[in-house]
Amino acid sequence: MSKPNDTVELGFVEKSPLWKLRSKFFPSKVGGYPAWLALKDLPKTEELLCKKCGDPLGFLCQLYAPHHDKSECFHRTVFVFVCRNPNCSEENDASNIRVFRSQLQRENDYYRATPAEEKEEGSESPSAADFNPLCRVCGALGPKTCGGCKVARYCSKSHQAKDWKAGHRQECQHPDKVSNTSCPGSKQFLFPEHEISMEPEELEEEVPKTEEEVMKEYEKLLLSGQVPSTYDDDSDTQDLLKMATKETDKQFQRFRTRIKEYEDQVIRYDRGGEPLWVSSENKPKDIPPCPACSKPREFEFQVMPQLLVHLKVDSTGKSIDWGTVLVYSCPDSCEQSKAYIEEVAYKQDYSPISQVMKNQK
Ligand SMILES: [Zn+2]
Ligand SMILES: [Zn+2]
Ligand SMILES: [Zn+2]
Ligand SMILES: [Zn+2]
Repeated sequence: MSKPNDTVELGFVEKSPLWKLRSKFFPSKVGGYPAWLALKDLPKTEELLCKKCGDPLGFLCQLYAPHHDKSECFHRTVFVFVCRNPNCSEENDASNIRVFRSQLQRENDYYRATPAEEKEEGSESPSAADFNPLCRVCGALGPKTCGGCKVARYCSKSHQAKDWKAGHRQECQHPDKVSNTSCPGSKQFLFPEHEISMEPEELEEEVPKTEEEVMKEYEKLLLSGQVPSTYDDDSDTQDLLKMATKETDKQFQRFRTRIKEYEDQVIRYDRGGEPLWVSSENKPKDIPPCPACSKPREFEFQVMPQLLVHLKVDSTGKSIDWGTVLVYSCPDSCEQSKAYIEEVAYKQDYSPISQVMKNQK
């Protein structure tokens, strides 16, 4: 994905053999362990903690997004992590999400300069596990060793405890059977693993709705009784609500119209473009510039709400949720001394009125 023109690239979840999603094939994917790009100098344990609850984050997805005009970015992958604790998911607040980019030249320490042969045999190597002990639960660095079997490795006490409860307690008695690459705890912790395949968005000619059409639809909605009942019998409140949400409304309509032709899209990749907002409210005002080169970060891609369907986190009550997660990165993808460079995530949620409209088909 190098952004040759103004086309947005859309990502879709696809079933494919899991061996194709290993580091060696430079995948874009959701779930499973991260398929690290640079195989050493992984993010430090502290960098992968939730800023809300302090627990290790779970790997959400990664996009392979080289910049073809830059030899340092011959390979380039952006990784997104999210806290699995539903209580950390708050509206318009991305402090439970962290984003890292990694990039490599064509000639590098890990991969051949020519594409690897697509076959299952040998697909596991090279991988970060060849160079570092990895946490069996989350696939990040695993500096801690289980004192019992002295085989199982973990990023943190928290993941060790999780794995112990999930079944390592029994397994630990038989160190020769303890695996490095999966464990009872990871089965509970990791999101289901799938490929993300990208294709260009091809829209039929867009006919934007007139303001009048939007207002008509909105009136219909108000009359249908799907807005909260407290507004029902008070026409002044209705008028006020109408005024207050007119803009939001239009933006949400725009959102819905735009995704209609590709309802299953889980990613929109549009480096340097304009995000598809889910609401005209709560747009980011203060994305910090790149700390290394000081250039303003630019929008790179967004994770769509449709991805939530594939995470199997839907439960009654609170769960991980977003309207959309926007990723902003250094426009130059500047080189830094470390292999994983933190970028910025921003979470935008539906405004209350869009919430009502969303539930209305
Ligand atoms: Zn958290
Ligand atoms: Zn871990
Ligand atoms: Zn053990
Ligand atoms: Zn920079």
